[in-house]
Amino acid sequence: MYQSKLFVKTQKEVPKEEVSINSQLLLRAGFIDKLMAGVYSFLPLGLRVLKKIEKVIREELEKIGAQEILLPALHPKENWERTNRWGQEVMFKLRSRSGKELGLGWTHEEIITPLVKKFVKSYRDLPLALYQIQVKFRDELRAKSGLLRGVEFIMKDLYSFHQTLEDLENYYEKVKKAYFQIFKRCGIGKQTFLTLASGGTFSEYSHEFQTLTPFGEDFIYLCEKCKVGINQQIIKEKNYRCYQCGNEKLEVKKAIEVGNIFNLKEKFARYFNLTFKDREGKEKFVLMGCYGIGLPRLMGAIVEVNHDEKGICWPIEIAPFQVHLISVREKREIKKTAQTIYQLLENQKIEVLYDDRAKSVGEKFVDCDLIGIPLRMVISEKSLRKKSVEIKERKKKVARLIKIKDLLKFLKEKLSLC
Ligand code: ATP
Ligand code: MG
Repeated sequence: MYQSKLFVKTQKEVPKEEVSINSQLLLRAGFIDKLMAGVYSFLPLGLRVLKKIEKVIREELEKIGAQEILLPALHPKENWERTNRWGQEVMFKLRSRSGKELGLGWTHEEIITPLVKKFVKSYRDLPLALYQIQVKFRDELRAKSGLLRGVEFIMKDLYSFHQTLEDLENYYEKVKKAYFQIFKRCGIGKQTFLTLASGGTFSEYSHEFQTLTPFGEDFIYLCEKCKVGINQQIIKEKNYRCYQCGNEKLEVKKAIEVGNIFNLKEKFARYFNLTFKDREGKEKFVLMGCYGIGLPRLMGAIVEVNHDEKGICWPIEIAPFQVHLISVREKREIKKTAQTIYQLLENQKIEVLYDDRAKSVGEKFVDCDLIGIPLRMVISEKSLRKKSVEIKERKKKVARLIKIKDLLKFLKEKLSLC
């Protein structure tokens, strides 16, 4: 993609009310635009990142046998009355012209449980895991941390259905592993901790995946040894001790919940009478688990964790482009070589943003650091004299010269490694 054609330009300033790092950097670099508190548009660069995150999530969930569906955002009141959650204050409510009361979905147990009831009748239909990547609406009061807390936001929600508690618990463990894999591929693996949290009505505890960041809204008590945390809300019950090793020296850290997994057991199956016939023909409630990840929140957390004073440092798998190609000066020979290399990379399906703008190299470098693409590739008179391009990794300080004839080999190795 040619940077001169890119819809959005970078900005020097952002409004003063933007206090969080993720919103400052993403707004300045032109990934997102704010419509109102908690409601954001995703611009070309931001949407590319969002799609990459979706890809990682899809790949990891397909590995554990989950099937993708898409449920509606507009819900009838009746479904929510069944579970006594119509009154929840996060729910946006509206009325159709015919007077029908409707709500905008902030989660989807009320929709998926009756849907599954239509198709699951016997033990042969189980287990089952369904997920969607879809928009949620929540009337949040604290929408001031950029993408970390949206009023409208995209969520991946997965629901699993089982015959036995054992099967549910096995699947729960599989999801845990898949989540760690997702967060690792998204570049926040080291900062993300499995954290014990208060659960739903029937399950004693749930698990959160908490990423350490100063803009997080939760406090977690972290055991350095076991690498697990306990949410502040339940720490009293645990006597301020690690629930795995009993360690009393827990570190209190600010964190943001990037994912949450719940063992719902029979809770929603009872509300909607979701049952199945077991091998003996006995009618039983289906056991459920539910598992969420907020995609924009994850994107915000990635930026909170992966940045420096100059801008964002995207992890390779979810970077908007893999290479940022910059030609120095307007000399014909340089432009021609840059154009040839651009085409070469495009042909090899290497994603490249080509800064072909008539700007000073200083300005180009500032934008390049702000946008945060993992590899910067500069073509200058100096590099061409050595039949080379200059390559610098976003996170490193020094650049190196790579011969143009070795470029593809170098990039392929580098891109699969970094
Ligand atoms: P929180 O405790 O942060 O309010 P929650 O416990 O209400 O979140 P869930 O209902 O479990 O969250 O939603 C599943 C996932 O969706 C969360 O783990 C988080 O990643 C994401 N999420 C929840 N609320 C928001 C929001 N307002 N904006 C962005 N992502 C969100
Ligand atoms: Mg929570």
